Formats: sequence, C-alpha cells, structure tokens
Amino acid sequence: MQNKNKNKFHVNLSSLLIGNIGDIKKVIIKEVELLSNNETFNNIIANINFIRADKTIIAKGKIRANFKIICSRCSEETVQVISSNYEEEYFPYNYDIMGFHNHIEDYDYENEIDLQIQKLDKRNFVDLSSTFKNSLYSAISIAPKCKEHCKGICINCLKNLNYEKCLCKTH
Ligand SMILES: [Zn+2]
Ligand SMILES: [Zn+2]
Repeated sequence: MQNKNKNKFHVNLSSLLIGNIGDIKKVIIKEVELLSNNETFNNIIANINFIRADKTIIAKGKIRANFKIICSRCSEETVQVISSNYEEEYFPYNYDIMGFHNHIEDYDYENEIDLQIQKLDKRNFVDLSSTFKNSLYSAISIAPKCKEHCKGICINCLKNLNYEKCLCKTH
C-alpha cells in the first residue's frame, strides 16, 4: 500500500522530452498523503503544468493539503488547509532523447552551479514528493492559530477562553 501511494508522485515526462518547446502536460494529483519527519500532509491536491523549455522542463504548480497544527495560543489540535504555489526546473537524465548530445549536460551544470539541480530519472520520470514537501513546509505558519481570533488560555486559571469565561483579571 505504501508503495502504491509513493508511485502517485512519479510522473512520466517522456512525451514532453520528445515533443516541442512550449508543449504543456497538465497533471492533477489527488487524495494522496505525504509523510515527512513526524508530520503528515493529508488530502493533497496538486495541479501541475509541465512546460517543455529548450533543454529542461519547467513545472508550475499549485498544491494544497490538510495539516494538523497545535494552536500557538490555546494549544488545541486542529486541522488546517495550507496551500502554496511553486515553480521548479527539471533536467533530463539523458539529453539524446531531446535530440542533443549528452556533453551539453556538463556545460549546463557548470553554469547553474548555485542552483539545486532537479533531475529526471533514467526512465524520464519526475519524483514530485520532495518538491511537494518543500512547498508545503513553506506554507506552514510559525505560530499557527486554530482560528483567526483564538482567545487563548488564561495564564492564571488555565481555562481555554474560547469555551469558558473566567473571572481572573489577567487579560
Ligand atoms: Zn487556539
Ligand atoms: Zn482565568
């Protein structure tokens, strides 16, 4: 089962590599979950446009997922919907499929030495899981709130002020 879920993040981009510049492949990935460290992103929905560039493939995507948070004010656990946009560039494993000689590869890499290079695998598949993780992590708030106007916890009597009132004068 775990393997089946994992494969949903792999997309075959062979058709774009043998196609023309400007070709677009639209991919929708739904209802998958992604585990990262001890956290889980659930009900992921991602829309990605893969666009054939000259020697690479550009991916422009939108992703959303459900994510469990602990409210920074009242400490209640809630599920939040987070969403993010991302753009990524993928280099083919083999350039010959695009009609180029493979020595182009080394040349391009030297020019883009500062970029973290994302490569397709030998079968021209892209693995989207790390891109998804990075993009979802960037959407997580540092101090998440269960709701916009969470009243928090009384520091004196420790009541959750979203549910109860207290008579302390501390707030
Ligand atoms: Zn709260
Ligand atoms: Zn109180």
